Amino acid sequence: MISKRAQAIVPSISGELTARANTMRKQGRDIIKLNIGEPDFKPPVHVREAMSAAALGNYSKYPPIPGYLDLREAICEKLKCDNGIQYQPSDIVVSTGAKQAVINSLMALCDPGDEVIIPTPCWVSYSEMVKLTGATPVFVPCYPETGFELNVEGIAQAITEHTKVIIICTPNNPSGAVYSEASLRRLAELAEAHDFYIISDEIYEKILYDDAKHFSIASISPAVKARTVTINGFSKAYAMPGWRLGYSAAEGEVAASIKSIQSHMTSGANAAAQRAAVAALTGSQIDLEQMRSEYQRRRDYACEVLSAIPGIELVKPQGAFYLYPKVSAYTGKSYGGTTINNSMDLAEYLLNEAEIAVVFGEAYFMEGYLRISYAVSMEELQEALRRFRCALEKLS
Ligand code: PLP
Repeated sequence: MISKRAQAIVPSISGELTARANTMRKQGRDIIKLNIGEPDFKPPVHVREAMSAAALGNYSKYPPIPGYLDLREAICEKLKCDNGIQYQPSDIVVSTGAKQAVINSLMALCDPGDEVIIPTPCWVSYSEMVKLTGATPVFVPCYPETGFELNVEGIAQAITEHTKVIIICTPNNPSGAVYSEASLRRLAELAEAHDFYIISDEIYEKILYDDAKHFSIASISPAVKARTVTINGFSKAYAMPGWRLGYSAAEGEVAASIKSIQSHMTSGANAAAQRAAVAALTGSQIDLEQMRSEYQRRRDYACEVLSAIPGIELVKPQGAFYLYPKVSAYTGKSYGGTTINNSMDLAEYLLNEAEIAVVFGEAYFMEGYLRISYAVSMEELQEALRRFRCALEKLS
C-alpha cells in the first residue's frame, strides 16, 4: 500500500497532458501544444556558451549545496537592483528549478495541521506540494471583474489561527495578473498582524506588458522581508527550463532549513547550469527584451482573436505568457452526440477534434476556464486559434 501522502496528491495535470500530446504527435496527429509553460526560445547565446564551456571544463563535480558563491552573489545583486531587496549570499539557496525552491520552502515552514492560503487561479503544483508537507491548502478565489487582482478581503476572511503561509504568484500563472503594490502592501500588513509567512513566486517577473510593474513584497520593509521567501529562477526569463535552475531567498533559520532539506533531497543543483546562470545574470540582458516584446505581439494578436469569438470572456493578461479565457458559455453544448459538461470536456474536445492541447481551468482551481499558452511561434498560434474558433463554431 502506498503512503497516505502519495495517495493525497494527483500528478501534474499539465505534465500528463504534455505526455499525451507527445504520444498523439508520435501517432501522426498534428497536435499544436498550447498547454506548455515553456518558452519556445533558446537561452541567450552567451548563456549557452557558458553552459557548453562548463560541460567541457571542470564542472562535473558536486557543487556546494546552496550553489556556487559567485552565483549567489550575482543573485543578491539582481535582487538588490531589480527588486530593491538586500539579501546576503547565505540567504540564497540555488535549487533544481523554482519548483524545488517552492517545495523546499514549504517543507521548511509547514507542519501537519497548518493551513496554507493559495489565491486562485493558481499554478497546479502549489496545492499538491502543500499536501505533501501534511498541511492543508485553503483556496481564495480572485475574480475576473478585478482583473484577477489579489483578493485581499477574501484572504483576510480565510485567515485562522492555523494559517502558517500564503503562496502568491505575480505575474500570475495562469491569469496573467500582476498584483498591485497597494494589494501587496495590504497583504503584508495581514501577514504581520496574524504572524504568517509569505512565499512569493516571482518567476514571471521579466515578462510584463503595457505599463505593468512588478513589485516584490519583500522590498516593503526588513520585517516583511524576514517573513518572506522570494522565489525566482531561470526557466522563463532566460528560456532555460531544461537546465532546471531556480532559487529561494530567505533569512536566518528559514534559509538554513531550506539548505538543510536540500542537502538530503538533491544536494547542489546542476553545476554546469549554475555557470550558465552566472553568465545569464551578469551578461547582456538584451535577449530578455526581445523575447518579451515577441510575447507581447502574440498576446495582442491572441487577445484580438479570442475577444471576437462569441461567448468568450477574456481579461487581458499583464504578464507571463498565458491567456485564461472564460469558456463556460460553451458548457451544455454538444458535438456528434457528446455533451460538453465542463472545461475539462471542452479541452478534450479541442484535443481530439481540433488537435490543439490546452489545459482545462479546473487544473488551476477555477472551473469554466481554459489556459492557453502563447509560448509558441506566431505561425503555430495563428493556426491554433483558427482551429479553436472553427471547433467552437461546430458546437451546437
Ligand atoms: N512557478 C510557477 C508559477 C510556474 O509556472 C512554474 C513552471 O511552470 C514554476 C514555478 C517552476 O519553474 P522551474 O522550471 O524553475 O522549476
